Amino acid sequence: HVGSANCGDNSMVVAVRIRPMSTKEMQSGAQKCCKVVNGRYVIISKAGIAGRYLRSQQGSSNEYAFDVAFDADATQAEVYEQTAKMHVPSVLDGYNVSILAYGATGAGKTFTMMGSSCAAAGESAPVTGVIPQSLSDVFATIERRKRTAPPNSQWQVFCSYMEVYNEQIYDLIGPGAGRGQPLQLREDPSKGVVVVAGLPEMLVRDTAQVLDLLRQGNRNRKTEATAANQVSSRSHAVLQICVRFSTVDAAGHDLGRESRLSLIDLAGSERASATLNRGARLQEGANINKSLLALANCINALSENSGGGKANNVKYRDSKLTHLLKTSLEGQCKVVMLVNVNPCDAVFDDSHNAIKYGHRAKQI
Ligand code: ADP
Ligand code: MG
Repeated sequence: HVGSANCGDNSMVVAVRIRPMSTKEMQSGAQKCCKVVNGRYVIISKAGIAGRYLRSQQGSSNEYAFDVAFDADATQAEVYEQTAKMHVPSVLDGYNVSILAYGATGAGKTFTMMGSSCAAAGESAPVTGVIPQSLSDVFATIERRKRTAPPNSQWQVFCSYMEVYNEQIYDLIGPGAGRGQPLQLREDPSKGVVVVAGLPEMLVRDTAQVLDLLRQGNRNRKTEATAANQVSSRSHAVLQICVRFSTVDAAGHDLGRESRLSLIDLAGSERASATLNRGARLQEGANINKSLLALANCINALSENSGGGKANNVKYRDSKLTHLLKTSLEGQCKVVMLVNVNPCDAVFDDSHNAIKYGHRAKQI
């Protein structure tokens, strides 16, 4: 299909989504500084894009190409169908699939992933984002496979939910969640697999059950108030769905396998310096930048290596986030990066940086 970097059957998709302006933003006279052209180009200009766009405006506007780009009128269904949908079922074929929402605080990451702005803010809001749609597809695909699979086949789905905060990993849903005890990463040298030691994994049967765990887990998240946003996301929220398939063929060989779907609401990408913070919050900001930078480097290296070369120069250990995702970013994998953008001219720099980040992640 159009626009994914192929490495065997591996692929990476980078998409941009510009959110609508809120009524409040419109009333305050905010101007829209970016727009989508032809479904895959994003034009961003400090002077705003309200007037006629002229390419010759002395470099005052910039144009970036993506696999797909969505303007403010895109629905949750459209975003899902044109990005994650074709890759999510691959988790049943042995691929590790990762879907990440990137962008500054307030740009629409949580809305894109969940469908309501924040589970902590409005638990009754309808949930129609990438996460619930992906979960439904996973469970529906399993049901479909069951009809044609050998009788001794079995699928089990496990869910874990953690946050990476200030270079530490915390479980959000187990009995010890919210107690501030970080978990350690362990590398199994023989298999080359990275695991979070002691991470609780819950056996789940359907989407509703996972969403319940998510809501429960969100109450254990660290949501410090910052000048940039009251319930600012200073941590990466990592939901992992592990699908275990087991079956025995006629000769008695175990054909079992296991792969992971990672659904990640990344920390706000705005620069630490922009949030007027001191002390601990500054350190946190530095760590957020460090892990987001390491992530871009890993993803970039993946596409660089997509010619068939071995991705042996990828520095997964540069941050907790990339180390945690190591197993999901190498080998058989699919990666979907959803770059979220706030259209208001007041946050032009944050939006421009997010667009450049996504663009860079995809440079080949
Ligand atoms: P982030 O998680 O990146 O900080 P949010 O997802 O909380 O941002 O979005 C900020 C605000 O904008 C929320 O009030 C959210 O409901 C709203 N919003 C974001 N994206 C959209 C969208 N596509 N359509 C309508 N409202 C949106
Ligand atoms: Mg959020």
